[in-house]
Amino acid sequence: MSDFWQRAFVYPFFLFLITMFVWAVAGALPAALFFGIGIMLRVFFHLRNLEALDRWLADPEKLQVPDGKGLWEDVFSQLNKITRLQRKEREQHAAALLQMKQATSALPEGVVILDEADRIEWCNPLAERHFGLDGERDNGQQITYLARQPEFVQYLAMKSFTEPLILRDTRHGDLVLSVKLIAYGDNKRLLISRDITHLERIETMRRDFVANVSHELRTPLTVVNGFVETLQDMPNLENDMSRRALQLMGEQTTRMESLVNDLLTLSRLENEQNALQEEKVDLAVLLRALLEEGLTLSKGQHQLRLEEESKACIRGSTNELHSAFGNLITNAVRYTPPGGEIVLRWEEAPDGNLRFSVRDSGIGIAPQHIPRLTERFYRVDRSRSRETGGTGLGLAIVKHIAIRHQAQFDIVSEEGQGSTFSIVFPGKRRCSEVTSA
Ligand code: ADP
Repeated sequence: MSDFWQRAFVYPFFLFLITMFVWAVAGALPAALFFGIGIMLRVFFHLRNLEALDRWLADPEKLQVPDGKGLWEDVFSQLNKITRLQRKEREQHAAALLQMKQATSALPEGVVILDEADRIEWCNPLAERHFGLDGERDNGQQITYLARQPEFVQYLAMKSFTEPLILRDTRHGDLVLSVKLIAYGDNKRLLISRDITHLERIETMRRDFVANVSHELRTPLTVVNGFVETLQDMPNLENDMSRRALQLMGEQTTRMESLVNDLLTLSRLENEQNALQEEKVDLAVLLRALLEEGLTLSKGQHQLRLEEESKACIRGSTNELHSAFGNLITNAVRYTPPGGEIVLRWEEAPDGNLRFSVRDSGIGIAPQHIPRLTERFYRVDRSRSRETGGTGLGLAIVKHIAIRHQAQFDIVSEEGQGSTFSIVFPGKRRCSEVTSA
């Protein structure tokens, strides 16, 4: 028999014994009376303890677990142990939560926890400042009610968040934010915001500086080039050295002019105020013009051909696309030895995207260089690039033009085998017929 039952039987056992004794000494009536009173006292004892338990259960946080006697002492002491343990666990959880809040408050980035319906579950003080939120007041509110910029709403609706969103038009005027969403748990999302106002300002200064320097250099270079050409044409220029010097001066000023022109083109492409011209680009006409230019540049040294697999035209800037496609063709001619093959191709992918590609059988590119080719002034072979009149800015220009058309720029190449450079336009850029170009 367990300890509980042993102790539970002590009182009835002694009550029974004493009742028997009273019966033997004083008769049945006093014994029955004694037994009745004994039972009533026991019931009263249990009721009192039950009432104490009931009172404690009404407010277990504030009240102490009651003291009890006999069997109730055990029950109350167990309860006491459990509540003490729970209190300790609660305190530990609260301390951990406080620590987490302090840590996320110290983060140099804003953090907002969103539920599956983009409602705010929690945010740190920096996120409050970035999005104009109030952690307590806005808890449970949909974030898009509070941060309503269309591009932000669109970004939230997207399923892939690989790229951060640059948010300029925030509630705080000139604040520029880089916003990134990270999916976690059961459809939950973490919204991370970073203040990049300062970086943006430096970037604008850099862009303005390059644009201004290029612009300022343009006029003196044109003048110098003009004089060099005039001098070269002078009939009494007999000295070989002077002729050679003038020829070198001419080559170098032309190179500098190309550089300045490419830098100005890049500045124009980077300038957000310079919106993309959305015109219907007649690809048939453009491709034919590009083929002609390629043939002229190649001077019959390569086999150049055009594969026009699609009649689709696209919306975009004819000038910019001419420049981007032209750069790829010029590179193919420059980096393909005589006798090589160059194919221009315009086609439609099964998913509806439209693709322009230039494939050559030229020198190719080693894999470690490919990710860096669109960086300004990055060249695999500096001297070859210079010899063939390169500025190191061609592919940077192509990439910018592709971005402005929401297109993807892909490079596939194998050293010694050749390369394929492609620009893949999203299907939404297609237009059915050409009215103007
Ligand atoms: P560059 O004026 O030097 O050609 P680009 O930006 O046009 O500058 O190209 C960057 C580098 O990429 C080039 O220096 C060259 O090394 C490499 N490259 C570009 N196109 C080709 C190609 N078709 N074949 C091999 N290498 C190429």
